[in-house]
Amino acid sequence: MGNKDLEKSPEERGDAPSASKISAISKCRGFHQANQIFPWYGERDAANEGTIRHQYEEDQTPLDEIIDPEQRFCADRCRKALEWCRDDLDLLENETTIDREVRLWWDDKWSGQLDYLETWSSTRDFGDGIPRLTEFAFLADYKTLRGDHDPAPVNLQLLAQAVLVMKNFPKVHQVYVALIEPFQDPIYTTASYSSGHLWGRGDWICGIVDEATGDNPSRTAGPSQCKWCSAVPFCPEVRNKIKELVA
Ligand code: SF4
Repeated sequence: MGNKDLEKSPEERGDAPSASKISAISKCRGFHQANQIFPWYGERDAANEGTIRHQYEEDQTPLDEIIDPEQRFCADRCRKALEWCRDDLDLLENETTIDREVRLWWDDKWSGQLDYLETWSSTRDFGDGIPRLTEFAFLADYKTLRGDHDPAPVNLQLLAQAVLVMKNFPKVHQVYVALIEPFQDPIYTTASYSSGHLWGRGDWICGIVDEATGDNPSRTAGPSQCKWCSAVPFCPEVRNKIKELVA
């Protein structure tokens, strides 16, 4: 699902960077504009399959209506992992608000489309003996194809999505995140962030987005960012990197 945004809502997103590309932009500031200039000629079947599997989760299609065995296996594991996460957070009996495939913005600068977002309020004692009604959020991202991804505690896409939750729900005190990978072991990893931490990371992300959308952003070649970049055949940094490697 690394290139999900090739398929989803480009007209809604416009030219603004997406949370799913923050990791690539953090490694190469030129990535964003390069992908606006050059069309993607690579394989799209995987992206299309990922879109189908995400649609099943957005619609919560009953498992017995999913004909393809691998798609059904994927949906079953996604749902089990999500319920386990929700159970860990004590959400199964709580009154909460659930949104799926919601797009959140940081002003008009950058945005992210969240597979799953759940928000709720509960009382919390912050050590002074006074219980206070406090808001929380839980977001999950599904990686519905086989492939390796950074686990939740070091996953920049999830961090960027958590930053967007904090920006759009400023009363939220803590954001819990889960990366759900139905074909991996473990099938989910988790992390949590305080609002104070997320404000700081929001400033950092806005800084790299400013560089990526400004004049002459720098280019830095590397396997993880160049893998999904449509400028690879034309990029001088890639040519230099290859020369270095074969010298
Ligand atoms: S090909 Fe690699 S180095 Fe060149 S712009 Fe794309 S991500 Fe950056």
